[in-house]
Amino acid sequence: MKKYDIAVIGGGPGGYVAAIKAAQLGAKTVLIEKHKIGGVCLNYGCIPTKTMLRTAKLYEDIQNASHFGIDIDTNTTIKIDWDKLMARKNQVVNQLVGGIGTLLKHNGVDVIKGHADVVVQGKIEVNNEVLTYKHLIIATGSRTFMPHIKGLEEAYSNGTVIDSTGAIHLKEKPDRIVILGGGVVAIEFATLFNALGSDVTLLQRSDEILKFFRL
Ligand SMILES: Cc1cc2nc3c(=O)[nH]c(=O)nc-3n(C[C@H](O)[C@H](O)[C@H](O)COP(=O)(O)OP(=O)(O)OC[C@H]3O[C@@H](n4cnc5c(N)ncnc54)[C@H](O)[C@@H]3O)c2cc1C
Repeated sequence: MKKYDIAVIGGGPGGYVAAIKAAQLGAKTVLIEKHKIGGVCLNYGCIPTKTMLRTAKLYEDIQNASHFGIDIDTNTTIKIDWDKLMARKNQVVNQLVGGIGTLLKHNGVDVIKGHADVVVQGKIEVNNEVLTYKHLIIATGSRTFMPHIKGLEEAYSNGTVIDSTGAIHLKEKPDRIVILGGGVVAIEFATLFNALGSDVTLLQRSDEILKFFRL
């Protein structure tokens, strides 16, 4: 049975940073991740959206090139190549996720791929093996909030409705998209798809978007 000073469950920004720091400070550390190192931020959140937004910004800038003193022949067709956009997004994500893997390795963190269950205080079961820890850091992240709207669960199950993870995996650029919510993630996707030329409708129950920014 392997023994650790610190076990970290979850390989997102919360977990991998804690694991690297713990190892740097001399603790024998294990990080357990059931899906992908990097968590939501690297794989489905911050990084893929910013990579896609970079394309969207460039697309907008090219369309407005004359404002910047660049004349583009009016016969030139400028269009989004969705497959290439997605391929670049995947390449950036893979590169950064790979970088985190290297950092963990170089700092001596043991990484286990599997679903961690705390069976009893001090013991974790993962992949049918048990390891022990003195201290545990739970960094298991969050889930998409599903509002209580009739038919929503069903529509989500059959793929008519997607969440933010679905949005960065779309097979093609949507002609029209309805976005539910007015928080940062909703506004980020509204900005993205609008800049890419989709017809975007944002549904927000209160009278203002991005309420948090008022605080
Ligand atoms: C579209 C989008 C854009 C975003 N953009 C930004 C941004 O620009 N800037 C910013 O600061 N934040 C952004 N965020 C938020 C950011 O992604 C989260 O704040 C961040 O990922 C939280 O990190 P975390 O480590 O707490 O959790 P997560 O990243 O969710 O990681 C948790 C990990 O735990 C793993 N896990 C869960 N249970 C177990 C288990 N039992 N055993 C093993 N592993 C387990 C999961 O597989 C997951 O990999 C964005 C989010 C989204 C959705």
